[in-house]
Amino acid sequence: MEVCDGCSDIDRLPVDVQRQENLTLIGVAECNGTLVLEHYRCDKCRAVLARQFTGDAGERIWSVIETAH
Ligand SMILES: [Zn+2]
Repeated sequence: MEVCDGCSDIDRLPVDVQRQENLTLIGVAECNGTLVLEHYRCDKCRAVLARQFTGDAGERIWSVIETAH
């Protein structure tokens, strides 16, 4: 994957880790009024990251879901 250091650093970290620099919120998903996940695009490497707020502890993480080519 060709992602910048910021993206590779946050990949797989818990969602309570804050990282807003160089990230643009591009979408959110809700279920029954509860925030399920947020999608961000990295302004540096153009990767798309998901921040999932539901599920088991191991699922409530940041993850790089798409990388630019
Ligand atoms: Zn990046």
